[in-house]
Amino acid sequence: MKWFWLLLFIPAFLFAAESIEKHPEWDQGYSKKIREYTTDPQFMTDLVDHLPASDKVPSPEKFNGYIAGAPDQLTYAEDVYRYMRALEAATARVKVFSIGKTEEGREMILVVVANEETIANLDRYKEITRKLSDPRKITEEEAAKLVQQGKPMYWLTGAMHSPETGSPEMLMELAYRLAVEETPLVQGIRDNVITMITPVLEVDGRDRQVDLVRWKQANPDSIQPPLVYWGHYVSHDNNRDALGMTLRLTQNVLKTFFEFHPQVLHDLHESIPFLYISTGTGPYNAWLDPIAIDEWHRMAYHEVQTLTEKGLPGVWTHGFYDGWAPNYMFWIGHGHNAIGRFYETYGNSTPKTMDRVVRDASQRDWFRTNPPLPKVKWSLRNNVNYQQSGVLTALHYMAENHEHFLQTFWILGNRAIAKAKTEGPAAYVFEANQKRKGQLRDLLNLLRVNGIEIHQTDKPVTVKLDWPPKKPEEKKEGEAKDKKEEKKEPDSATFSAGSYVVRLDQPFSRLADALLDVQYVRGDERVYDDCGWTLGYSKNVEWKRIVNQEILMTPMHEWSPQAPGAPPEAKGKIVAVKNYADTDLIRLRYALSDAKFSVSEVAWKQKTTEWPAGSVFISLEGADSKNVVNALASTSLEYSILDTVPSIATHPMPTPRLALLHTWVDTQDEGWYRIALDELHVPYDYISTQGVSGMQDLRSKYDVILFPPAGVLSDVSEIVNGMPSGPPMPWKKTELTPNLGVDETDDLRPGLGLSGVQNIKKFVEDGGLLITVRETAQWAVQYGLAKYISTVQPQKLRASGSIMNAVFTDRKSPIAIGYDEMLPVYYAAFPIFKIGIFDNREAEKRPSGRGSLKDPDVPQGRPYVDLPEKPKPGPGEEGFQPADESSSRFDPYIPRMEERPRVILSFPKEADQILLSGMLDGADEIAGKPLIIDSPLGKGHVLLFANNPMWRGNTQGNYALIFNAIFNYQSLGIGWPPK
Ligand SMILES: [Zn+2]
Repeated sequence: MKWFWLLLFIPAFLFAAESIEKHPEWDQGYSKKIREYTTDPQFMTDLVDHLPASDKVPSPEKFNGYIAGAPDQLTYAEDVYRYMRALEAATARVKVFSIGKTEEGREMILVVVANEETIANLDRYKEITRKLSDPRKITEEEAAKLVQQGKPMYWLTGAMHSPETGSPEMLMELAYRLAVEETPLVQGIRDNVITMITPVLEVDGRDRQVDLVRWKQANPDSIQPPLVYWGHYVSHDNNRDALGMTLRLTQNVLKTFFEFHPQVLHDLHESIPFLYISTGTGPYNAWLDPIAIDEWHRMAYHEVQTLTEKGLPGVWTHGFYDGWAPNYMFWIGHGHNAIGRFYETYGNSTPKTMDRVVRDASQRDWFRTNPPLPKVKWSLRNNVNYQQSGVLTALHYMAENHEHFLQTFWILGNRAIAKAKTEGPAAYVFEANQKRKGQLRDLLNLLRVNGIEIHQTDKPVTVKLDWPPKKPEEKKEGEAKDKKEEKKEPDSATFSAGSYVVRLDQPFSRLADALLDVQYVRGDERVYDDCGWTLGYSKNVEWKRIVNQEILMTPMHEWSPQAPGAPPEAKGKIVAVKNYADTDLIRLRYALSDAKFSVSEVAWKQKTTEWPAGSVFISLEGADSKNVVNALASTSLEYSILDTVPSIATHPMPTPRLALLHTWVDTQDEGWYRIALDELHVPYDYISTQGVSGMQDLRSKYDVILFPPAGVLSDVSEIVNGMPSGPPMPWKKTELTPNLGVDETDDLRPGLGLSGVQNIKKFVEDGGLLITVRETAQWAVQYGLAKYISTVQPQKLRASGSIMNAVFTDRKSPIAIGYDEMLPVYYAAFPIFKIGIFDNREAEKRPSGRGSLKDPDVPQGRPYVDLPEKPKPGPGEEGFQPADESSSRFDPYIPRMEERPRVILSFPKEADQILLSGMLDGADEIAGKPLIIDSPLGKGHVLLFANNPMWRGNTQGNYALIFNAIFNYQSLGIGWPPK
């Protein structure tokens, strides 16, 4: 460190802010405005209390007409880009790249800032980080040389969350400052670091948020409408997509990550005061290298200490967010041997200066020894000051330690390659011959997109599962046999030739392990998001975790997806397709929407081939048969072209008219349904609760209404009542708000109304199918659409987003078609369904008296008489007798069998059999409880899901539950009432 840099570490509070006039090299007007818009000098540091002047490079003020963080000013993404491109045109220290488009066609960009030499030789620096990313291909000596020659890259991303508005403003000023300022600190950054900036991640949402702020400015007496849509599909969840990779912003960042291989990926968020620097409370992700975790702490504490020295109140770490799930955007860094991190600064959401009250977070704690002030006047400029002071400190730290960052990057890769032989496991293996090959292919492709190599075995292989082999244990005399011994688990596994191997001796082995392994989270952990995600479960494919290193020695070659083979000759009458509830069959059905599909109701045999019940027939008669076989050839389905139509019972498999229903309260969770439907090319109408309130004849337009989870509600009555009444809050494209959309309304406030409930009820009674999930299922119960069902309040259940085992209790229902007996499902602690007309809990109690709880009560002074039998259990309850129809003929309160709810999928009855991956405490509250219920109503059906079958692009193994219902909506009554 050169001596004069020490000056920068003299605490700011030791002297008042430098007088602007003393610095002719500063932009006088801009610097004055910084101080004017900062509400108190203590919210400013010497790093950002001024802006250097330049007669060549335009400042944000020269270009936009206002400084970064000016009151009442927010910049549209395209204007941010125009500014960045103006910088690029004015200085050889800035370069702008286009990195892709959003769902709505808006551009995403990357801005690179460094000294002229670095920018001119950017390709060479990219080559260095690329080489360091795969230590298998370079020697240790080469790596040491590359570490000396290279420059680490630090990627800052802004406006991931659209109501968090400060970062794009800050990043414009940062890019200018890094390009222009001639202080030793900035020169050090420019010479030693390649700063990467994506000013706006969620571009669609940013522009909508700026629209709303403009609307409010034009309508000062009205209430600003909430940002009901952020991106095209989801809102806050847009940074929980690193597991599913379904959103464009995640895909674009991942693709760009592999082009540059940066060492840090840093998201800029705004919520808690004043600057939280990420480390997290734990549990930390158990698959990360401890060195990576140490880097979070080292960097966070460096910034906490430096900024505290500079006098900023409220800079802290640790006490927010956990560090567990690998679904965050910055996991694109963590998963690829870089450091992923984030800030939360204090934002007002709008650019207005406001009086804010800070409650809990203003309390001193061991991790927050310098807490925020309990109340504060807060401006957008304060927010810009905090973000920028933090980021400059982080960049300076990287500049000072530039070799360390490149070396750590290489070390992390090296240790990941050694993983298979040090801590293990050696590999994950997916048997080639399994039922759901389409879902397996999608899983393998997801890994490949993440840079994980997949291999295929050249010949069959058998590996011992016990590794290293255990010494036979001596049995003690009289010791009880344990369960394992009784159930004798296989001691080896055999895989056929062509099976898929994910070797864990590759640079991103820890990401592969984190995605494919099973999670265990203690019930008393304070977790921030999902706890379990095991991809093999969520895609419902067969997989094995292999510890035995011999698997790595078996002959294998690298796998890449193959182009579809030549289709067979389209000669024959009918195609039979095996149905294992694979999403490829859903794709096929919609790709051939004009073809005639039917479903077999029984198993059958053709020559030597066994065809399970639920197999699908596609008629070639009168169809474009060439088109049919071409579509089939592009799937991974098993099929045969037959010359004769088998004479077995079938029913039609149509593509019914589908509507997807949303509220105006929260559109996020239904967004994951839209993205799943769009990805499968399923056509549907997107309708709102407000629209349905006035549609008296829904049945004439639709066959199936899918009402996905309604997200964060204060109560399910909000679906009906909408928001509190008041002046209209429009959500519409206008000249003032050109970016609002996805759906439109004149007023966000009204809900479904009781007329809407009535219209949906009539729709079902007239033969329609209504599919409800979580909140909307509870709504269907509370508003009388699903009868003889209640929901139970959990008392001690702890099950944050985890993968649970489920068992089909009624395999005759078409919803079970193609599935095995057991199915992993995603469940998040709500709801718990209970079936039955009577509340049996009272009956289970006994009066205080002699004996124990289980003893009968014996009144004194007369002979003892037994109690009558308990009410007979209903469908789905233990001991249910299907033939028991008689009582409904005598008792007006007992429903006829065909009107009773039908339980299709349930939790296992044994509490210890439920959890597959994640967290589960209090399992006895859900043991044996229904997950999917088909509730008949008139000529139609209401389907209720407690599990969420379409969640964040992760639950592909459950998609067919929804589509089995859709394709068989006319045939759901098969097998009901039970005979
Ligand atoms: Zn955020």
